[in-house]
Amino acid sequence: MHEWALAEGILASARQIAEKEHLQSVKEVTIRVGQLQQVEAPILRFALKQMKDGILVKAKFRILKAKSTLKCRVCETTWQYNSKKVDKATAEAIHFIPEVAHTYIKCPRCGSPDFEIASGRGVWLEDIKGVKTE
Ligand SMILES: [Zn+2]
Repeated sequence: MHEWALAEGILASARQIAEKEHLQSVKEVTIRVGQLQQVEAPILRFALKQMKDGILVKAKFRILKAKSTLKCRVCETTWQYNSKKVDKATAEAIHFIPEVAHTYIKCPRCGSPDFEIASGRGVWLEDIKGVKTE
């Protein structure tokens, strides 16, 4: 994941929302990052701090993780991805190459590696707090 491009996107959407909500300045932006999304939170935070301006210049950024739910394409079982259950080397591999997840993660019911990420995918803005224009 390219954290800098991501930060740019987050700031652009935050700005749009803030304008729509008629905020004078934004105090806090809460960002959710899907568990299986390959984002380095410290880099993202740094990028956001470096690039924030205008209405967002005083904003603090909270970066939270979102749990990922996986859904088997064969038997339709859904389960939650739990990184604690995978050993460290595997977790690292998944972290660097998300496609690798399909090699390591299998459906707990039928054992199929054919699954999709049902929720907790991507990066999204969860909340924006700010000061309204009088
Ligand atoms: Zn299954």
